[in-house]
Order: sequence, then structure tokens, then C-alpha cells
Amino acid sequence: MQIELPLPDRGALWAFFLDVDGTLADIAPHPEAVAIADHARNTLSRLAAGCGGAVALVSGRAIVDIDRLFAPLHLPVAGLHGFERRDAAGRITRADVDAGRLLAVRTGLTAFADAHPGALVEDKGLSLALHYRQAPAAEADALALAQELESEAGGALVLQRGKMVVELRPAGPDKGTAAAAFMAEPPFAGRRPVFVGDDVTDEAGFATINAMDGISIRVGDGTPTCARYDGASVAGIHDWLAAAADRLGGAVAKSGNGEI
Ligand SMILES: [Mg+2]
Repeated sequence: MQIELPLPDRGALWAFFLDVDGTLADIAPHPEAVAIADHARNTLSRLAAGCGGAVALVSGRAIVDIDRLFAPLHLPVAGLHGFERRDAAGRITRADVDAGRLLAVRTGLTAFADAHPGALVEDKGLSLALHYRQAPAAEADALALAQELESEAGGALVLQRGKMVVELRPAGPDKGTAAAAFMAEPPFAGRRPVFVGDDVTDEAGFATINAMDGISIRVGDGTPTCARYDGASVAGIHDWLAAAADRLGGAVAKSGNGEI
């Protein structure tokens, strides 16, 4: 599907927040099967150079996993839906988590996966995901279990639904608060934010960026979204980012280090 997305004027000061799975890469049967194409790495590198480094990845994956996917690129990043964040200076912040509660969740999800062939537990360290893409008939039971575990955690954990995945993560930060934290710091501060995502967890990012008069873009379609642009494709996003990088390339020389 092709939709018309706005391009920055030459010399404009924009900042980019980009989800990974389903946005920069097509979703694979298994999260470890996802790969980032060389041309995408190259585009992100050019884009970062064109906007003073104000390009951040905002993903449900852990930061260590995102770094592995995008190596040798080392961008500012929010991992685990915003629960951990590495700013442009390389400083990492992580919210506190109750290890005992996560252990109980891990035990519950692992027992479920053992009983449902094809279901898979992904341990992200600070959160736990149950994937059922390979066991679609288990969806209702997986959701019921996740809701039960969320309720047992008494507000300490939040159920995050995604595409063929349920995830229990600590309550607190989300992709919206992560984007807002970046926007309060250099080199993001003062720029017009763009947020591109594809899933329920990205809605918090869309809402935050909308409130800043930014540009929110949802990849895919079907479910309700607060994104201002809906129906983009992964390939369309890559083309658009490359075109934006071409436009913003002039901004480096024009505005020195890219700061206002
Ligand atoms: Mg996604």
C-alpha cells in the first residue's frame, strides 16, 4: 500500500523515532529471524547525519538485541517499550523492576509454552513475552493467562498485547514517555518529531508526538490508531526515510551541528 507522506523542507530540523519490528523490518515467524537490510542501515546512517544525530530506535526489544540487529550502527534507543533508554550521549537508564514477580511470570509462561507446541517464551531480561504465531489456536488461552498474571502482579506489571504476542512488562515508562525524554535533550530538543510504528505499543508514541505537533505514521492498517498517517508499508517507510535523508542532507552544512 502506498500513502503520501510529508517530506521535510531542505534545512528543516526534524527528529525521528522509529519502531523496529513491523516498521523497519517485516515481522518474521520468530523474532531472531528478523534482519535489517544493508540499505536500511545506510539510510538510517544518512538520516542521522542529516539531523544532527536525532534518530532514535524505539522498540519492544531489549537494547542489547537492537544493537545486535543494527550493528555497526549505534543509535540512541529505547528498549523494552521504553523501559530502558540510551540517550545520544550513550547514557543508559533503566526503570526498577521486581525480579521476584518476573520470575513468577516466567514460570507461568514457560509452563504454558511447554503445554502448547509452537508457543515460545522470549525472556528480555526486564520483561517476558509469549509468542503464539506458531500456535494461533492458543491465542485465547495465552491472553487469559497473561491477564491472570497481570492481575496477580497487583499493578506492578502491565500486559502489553502485540501481533501474535502477549507480554508482561513492568508498569511505568512506555514509548511515549521515552520519546518525550529524548525530546527534552539534545540533539532532539527543538526539532519536529516524527514517530513511525505499527503496533498497539506505538500508540503511546503517536499520542506524545501528536501533542508536540509532530508527524505520527502507522505502518499497516486495520485497528484503530491515533496516528495522523495510516496505511504505510515497510518498503514505503524505507523509501520515505531515504527521501527524507536526501532532503535533510543539506541541513548538516546549513545549521552546523544541527542544533537550533
Ligand atoms: Mg512493531
